[in-house]
Amino acid sequence: MSLRRAIFPGSFDPLTMGHLDIIERSVDLFDEIIIAVLNNPDKHPMFSVKERCEMIKEVLPAIESRGCALIVDDFSGLTADFAKQQRATAIVRGIRAISDYEYELRMALMNRRLEPEIETVFLMAAEEYSYVSSNLIKQVFTLGGRVEGLVPELIEKRMREKLSESE
Ligand code: ADP
Repeated sequence: MSLRRAIFPGSFDPLTMGHLDIIERSVDLFDEIIIAVLNNPDKHPMFSVKERCEMIKEVLPAIESRGCALIVDDFSGLTADFAKQQRATAIVRGIRAISDYEYELRMALMNRRLEPEIETVFLMAAEEYSYVSSNLIKQVFTLGGRVEGLVPELIEKRMREKLSESE
């Protein structure tokens, strides 16, 4: 049987419990998941791609991966190209609300047009994290709000360090 390899692409700036929840849900569906961190300098990220990849690598061992290999890599350019280059057969995306669906549907159809062999797989967010996004976490944290329980402890620590660096 051939290896079922998926990519889970995103900005992960930073990784949240919502992302981790999607990864946990994916491990039973695939043999290998590449968490693919998008290198998009135009977005003015809080963390560099290198920092984001390092943080994800530190957090992943806490996940019960049940035999699924979890790999972290970064990429630039088209998600469909990266997926093909990695010989992945699926792109995993999380859906939090109808508002995600509209954008995700367009992306999935475009990616299918670009690479018909690659299927986009949508997983529903856990209810308790369905309002969590990296952007909201950054906004709240930057204004002094508590984000514990919404991001892994290590990520919260790195955000605190990053904030004190910029002060
Ligand atoms: P992008 O910049 O591509 O939206 P993100 O890092 O924000 O990347 O998200 C990557 C993927 O994770 C997307 O499919 C997004 O819908 C999903 N995701 C983000 N936050 C959550 C959450 N709280 N619950 C479930 N899925 C999520």
